[in-house]
Amino acid sequence: MTASGMVAALHLPPLPTIGEIIKLFHLQANKQLSQNFLLDLKLADKIVRQAGNLKDAHVCEVGPGPGGITRSILNANVAQLLLVEKDTRFIPGLQMLSEAAPGKVCIVHGDVLTYRMDRAFPEHLRKTWQDDPPNIHIIGNLPFSVSTPLIIKWLENVSNRDGPFFYGRTQMTLTFQKEVGERLIASTGSKQRSRLSIMSQHLCTVQNCFVIPGQAFIPKPKVDVAVVRFTPLVEPKILQPFKLVEKVVRSVFHFRRKFCWRGVGILFPEADRLKKTEQMMLTADVDPTLRPTQLTMLHFKGLCDAYRKMCDEDSSLFAYNYRDELKEKMRSKRDGHLKQLEEEDEL
Ligand code: SAM
Repeated sequence: MTASGMVAALHLPPLPTIGEIIKLFHLQANKQLSQNFLLDLKLADKIVRQAGNLKDAHVCEVGPGPGGITRSILNANVAQLLLVEKDTRFIPGLQMLSEAAPGKVCIVHGDVLTYRMDRAFPEHLRKTWQDDPPNIHIIGNLPFSVSTPLIIKWLENVSNRDGPFFYGRTQMTLTFQKEVGERLIASTGSKQRSRLSIMSQHLCTVQNCFVIPGQAFIPKPKVDVAVVRFTPLVEPKILQPFKLVEKVVRSVFHFRRKFCWRGVGILFPEADRLKKTEQMMLTADVDPTLRPTQLTMLHFKGLCDAYRKMCDEDSSLFAYNYRDELKEKMRSKRDGHLKQLEEEDEL
C-alpha cells in the first residue's frame, strides 16, 4: 500500500449497495447524457487513492451520480465533501449518503461547467501560489463530452489563478476517454502529442494514473477510461496569456503531419505570410522542418514569446483569424462563380 493509501478509513454505517440505490431510485443510466456508473467500490477506492492523502481535506466531487466514488471519498476521512450533480434524479440517493456522514456533505444540484468554484471552499484554506497545494481536491468521473471542455476551462483557470485555483494550486483527479488521457500526457515525439499535451503540460504536472477497462462501468462505454491527476505548476513553462498560447498551439497543430512552419504561417494574413513566418521561426530559433509532434515545450515557449513580440509590434495581429479569412475567400469565390453564371445566362 502507498503512503497515500494509508489513511485511516471512516466506516460509513451499513448502506444499500450502489446497485440497490440504482434500483431503489430508478436511476437507469441516461445514454443521451453518456452516463456510465462505477459499481465496483474497490475501483472507486483506487481512483480516490490517486488523489493522495485526503484526511481532513475539502473535496469537490463533480458528477457523483449514484455515489460509488462518493463513498470512497467519505471513507478517506475528508473534512468536507461538496457534490455537484446536474441530474436531479441522483439527489435523493446522495442525500442518503449525506445522512450517513452527518455534517460532512453539501449537495449542489447544478452544472459544473458554470458552478462558481471560486466560492466553493472556505476562504481560510487559501494558499499562495508558491506554497504547497491547499488541502482542496477535485475528483470526478464525468461524461467524456463534459470532461474535455471542462479541463480546457480549468487549465485557463490555472493560468489566471481563478475558479478552483483562487485557493492556490488545487489538485484534480479526473477521468477521461483513454485516448484523451494519452494525449494529455504525451511527450515530444509521441504520436499522441497534440494541443492538449502542450496546454496541460505547460501549466500542470500531469500524471496518467491507471486505465479502467470499459467493462467496469454499467452500461459499458465503447472505450476504456484513464484516471489522470493534475497538479498546477508553481511556474508555468510558457509565461504568456492562455489565449495566446492556445492560438499558437492550435495553429501549429492545424497541419499536424506537415513541417511546423505551415501551421505557424496561419497566424498571419496571407499578404505577408511567408515573410512573417520566417521572422517568427528565426526569433523563436525553431527549425521550420520539424513536425508539430517533434516540438519540445521549449520550442513552444520560443514560438509563443516570438508571436507575443510580433503582436506587441502590430496591434491588429492577434485579432487575425485564418478561418475567417478562409471563409471569406470561399464566399467571394462562390459569389464570383454565381456572378459568372448570371452573366452567362444573360448572354
Ligand atoms: N461518478 C459516477 C460514477 O462514477 O458512477 C457517475 C458517472 S456518470 C459517467 C457522470 C455523472 O456526471 C452523471 O451523474 C451525470 O448526471 C453527471 N453530470 C453530467 N454532466 C454534468 C455537469 N455538467 N455538471 C454536473 N454533473 C454532471
